[in-house]
Amino acid sequence: MAPDFFSGAGKHLALGQTISSRVVDISAVQGKQDRRETKGQFIVRSRQRFGRPALASQKVVVREQQLERVVLFLNKTVSLPQDLYLALEDCGEDDAFYDKETREVNVCHELLDRLQRQFAQETKSPARLRKMVLGTMTAILFHEVAHALIDILNLPATGREEDAADQFASLMLVAQKSDGEQMLLDTAKAWRLAARWSRLHREPIAYWDGHSTEGQRFYNCLCLLYGENPGKFGYLVRNRTLPLDRAIGCSEEFRKTRRSWAVLLTPYLKEGVSLLPTDTDNEGPISYSVPSLR
Ligand SMILES: [Zn+2]
Repeated sequence: MAPDFFSGAGKHLALGQTISSRVVDISAVQGKQDRRETKGQFIVRSRQRFGRPALASQKVVVREQQLERVVLFLNKTVSLPQDLYLALEDCGEDDAFYDKETREVNVCHELLDRLQRQFAQETKSPARLRKMVLGTMTAILFHEVAHALIDILNLPATGREEDAADQFASLMLVAQKSDGEQMLLDTAKAWRLAARWSRLHREPIAYWDGHSTEGQRFYNCLCLLYGENPGKFGYLVRNRTLPLDRAIGCSEEFRKTRRSWAVLLTPYLKEGVSLLPTDTDNEGPISYSVPSLR
């Protein structure tokens, strides 16, 4: 079985769509101040619900603390019409998914354990290893939350939902600057390791799958990272991690991706939050009005 984390699985998520990068008059969206009903909250599902032992391991405690940070961030960022639950679970398989019926995002500990084993090939430092797992876990949570937002807010889309969810996760991370950028780099590493694993085990490439391939997801992460700040991440092109042929279009790809999600989410963003740059200069580092994920 090929690694399949970020599976959008769920019973409802057949072939989804990517948010279109079509041109929309965002000033009209912004001007409306049409902020929707905000009765809903992002809520952490307590592990007690699943009968976990009261004394959880340190590993689980640290993961749950990060989940709480993500939920805090989401509650400061997005208004929901109804509650959305997020949980870390022992699932019996290494997966992550959004369940439309129960409105729950679940990330399985088995998936995080597998990431930890894979990342252990990359570092000997326990602190760095923990950060790599938590960073990738954060990207997984944002990916699944994107599926939930598309469902709950009935957001329109014109491409594959799996790609749109990856893009949302990347945008949320780069908006966090250094810490988030490192998380996105670590997520890219996870995809590179997964692709290597698949090659070593001669797993056939699943061209039929709703997700892009592991290799494509690796380059997609790097492209948005580089596109957001070519000055800072130019080394990825110079050392040929990101091929020049792709890199050339990454700034444009990043701007279109950010704009697409901004257009769709602006009516649901909390007051003072914006996914658009805070200045009009499209060149160079970009500032956001997005809460800090800390
Ligand atoms: Zn997905």
